[in-house]
Amino acid sequence: MRSEIAIDLGALRRNVRTLLRALEGAELWAVVKANAYGHGAVDCAGAALGAGATALCVATVPEALVLRAEFPGTRILVMGPAANREVAQARDAELALVVSGDEIPEGVAVHVKLDTGMGRWGLSELPALTREVVGVMTHLATADSDVEYARVQVERFRAATEPLSHLQRHVANSAAALRLAEARFDAARCGIALYGLSPFGEDPAADGLEPVLSWTTEVAQAKLLRAGESTGYGRLFVAERDTWVGILPVGYADGFRRDLTGTEVRVGGERRRVVGAVSMDATAVELPGPVPAGAPVTIVGRGMPLEEHARVAGTLTYELACGIDSSPTRARRVVMDAA
Ligand SMILES: *Cc1c(COP(=O)(O)O)cnc(C)c1O
Repeated sequence: MRSEIAIDLGALRRNVRTLLRALEGAELWAVVKANAYGHGAVDCAGAALGAGATALCVATVPEALVLRAEFPGTRILVMGPAANREVAQARDAELALVVSGDEIPEGVAVHVKLDTGMGRWGLSELPALTREVVGVMTHLATADSDVEYARVQVERFRAATEPLSHLQRHVANSAAALRLAEARFDAARCGIALYGLSPFGEDPAADGLEPVLSWTTEVAQAKLLRAGESTGYGRLFVAERDTWVGILPVGYADGFRRDLTGTEVRVGGERRRVVGAVSMDATAVELPGPVPAGAPVTIVGRGMPLEEHARVAGTLTYELACGIDSSPTRARRVVMDAA
């Protein structure tokens, strides 16, 4: 076993209920794009629906088709653009499409996207609506960082869609669902919070969220570096005095990125620093002394939050989570499904 990725669907269900309480009656749509942010789309979608989510959101038609096979009667919304060939597939599979252009396809449910300030996908004005249009939406650029700007976007959306209250109106992502009441409308599209990660980069417990993913491995080998000896490519870490290091059988090919040098993991419960260059399949940690091969290591989990790695890498938990490779050629994936 190189490493083990455990997915706690009980925690995911509790996160769904926490979000539903925050939403005070608005629907919760589970965003499971990018293989549920690396957590496993089918497992996470099933758990989210079981706990009260009423639709699934993905980025691409192929992602939606995989889910359609598993969840025949469920609403599935494709949020990214669909190619012509994919529109036909979406029609056959009874998906719903988000449309950001003037042309509204026929025979498939459509949610029209307005650009109220994200400056990315979306129309600046509503097009002529056809009977295919069942929803109207926008996406917030700063719900996690600049609430004032998010409020401006919400007000633009409200003004533009005021006469359309018979359609499903949806704006909120996780950050807005948790902390921006006026963005709730009819439904919120929540991703990161389902997985128990803070959209604000803070301790998820501050919003009542529980991390769903944990990632563990073992020390494959402990090695004594004599003063002046180094570990890893480029000799980025040179021991100043005799130093024990533990070699972990996990590297950037598994999603433990090269810019995580300097972060910490827990070895036998104690925090230890990652030293030297992270390589494709191996990572070194500094140890106070020898440990036996097989000593347990928590990369992500209790006492070692993903948010902390994100800070060291100068990125978001979104990006780190998507990059964790839990395919069977790299890791053992364990799904815990206690109610
Ligand atoms: C990914 C995405 C979301 C979910 O955002 P979170 O911050 O993960 O909750 C919502 N809406 C759209 C359009 C998205 O692309």
